Amino acid sequence: SVKSADSSRCVSLSGSGSTDSGGPQRADSLDRANKQDSRWPRQNSLSMKEWDIPYDELKLSEVIGKGRFGTVYRGSWHGAVAVKLLHVHSLGDDCVPLDTFKHEVATFRKTRHENLVLFMGACMKPPRLAIVTSLCKGMTLYTHIHLRKDKFTANKSVLVAQQISQGMGYLHARGIIHKDLKTKNIFLENGKVVITDFGLFSVTKLCFGNNARGDSLGIPAGWLCYLAPELVRALRPHASLHLPFSKATDVYAFGTVWYELLCGEFPFKGQPPEAIIWQVGRGVKQSLANMQASRDIKDILMLCWAYRSSERPDFPRLLSTLQKLPRKRLARSPSHPVHLSRSADS
Ligand code: ADP
Ligand code: MG
Repeated sequence: SVKSADSSRCVSLSGSGSTDSGGPQRADSLDRANKQDSRWPRQNSLSMKEWDIPYDELKLSEVIGKGRFGTVYRGSWHGAVAVKLLHVHSLGDDCVPLDTFKHEVATFRKTRHENLVLFMGACMKPPRLAIVTSLCKGMTLYTHIHLRKDKFTANKSVLVAQQISQGMGYLHARGIIHKDLKTKNIFLENGKVVITDFGLFSVTKLCFGNNARGDSLGIPAGWLCYLAPELVRALRPHASLHLPFSKATDVYAFGTVWYELLCGEFPFKGQPPEAIIWQVGRGVKQSLANMQASRDIKDILMLCWAYRSSERPDFPRLLSTLQKLPRKRLARSPSHPVHLSRSADS
């Protein structure tokens, strides 16, 4: 792990698996920075400074909430923003190096998609580590489904799921695995889906204020239902950093979101973690016998929850499956009321 202040002086970071055509790098300083950590490919010569926000420029107002990553504030930086502040307590040996944090931040800046939260920058001077994104205005799907008990019709669920698939398909095409897709990380703004917290998962393991352990396995409440069998089987106490996340584990998590949308509750509702771990690890799925939904809709669930990761569809395929679902008078765009767009639909 990184213990010297040197790491905060890295001037160049490039994303993993990036297809950006960076061209040959020129500055010696970039070379030096790359040599410090040869894991990152050297294709991208954009300076990290561009995304570095001096902590003093951030105005923090009230706390929006606390999560595994630290505390989220409503803030101001050239307008209203959300600031995710990570508190650095210590840099132990079992922690992720600061460079990993920077590397992840470097991947966010490559994301530009309607259904993804806008990454604005980061403050990367320990002990001040913060991620600044646009402020989501609506409520999370979690709040809609589990707190307000809002009912999502099949049609509305499809529209939401399509947008999630679109955003996730984009992330995957960019080589970014979300690792923490869940209804708490999906906002709904006037019918538009905005996905947050992609790729942030290992930041939790920076050991900077990771105090939300649910139990001895370090499983926060509500997390388990999103974990694919291969992740559940790899669970070890306090070792979630090395879990085998993949595009397919994101698809599994999407399946759970799809179930929540349709059923208004979590799979394995009310069951203790050990029972869920035992079942999922052996390939036992939540029963759909009592679910009021068409075969097509249930098929999507079963595909996403396939025990073998290779059998799960990818997001482009999910999107086309969702688009082919029989619908009744479905609005073409979620931002337009049904009666306006119906005439425009074929
Ligand atoms: P979790 O996702 O597990 O709820 P987080 O730390 O990501 O934990 O979020 C803490 C709180 O801040 C949550 O209530 C979340 O909805 C809110 N939040 C996170 N990001 C944003 C954002 N970009 N805009 C508005 N609220 C946000
Ligand atoms: Mg979140």
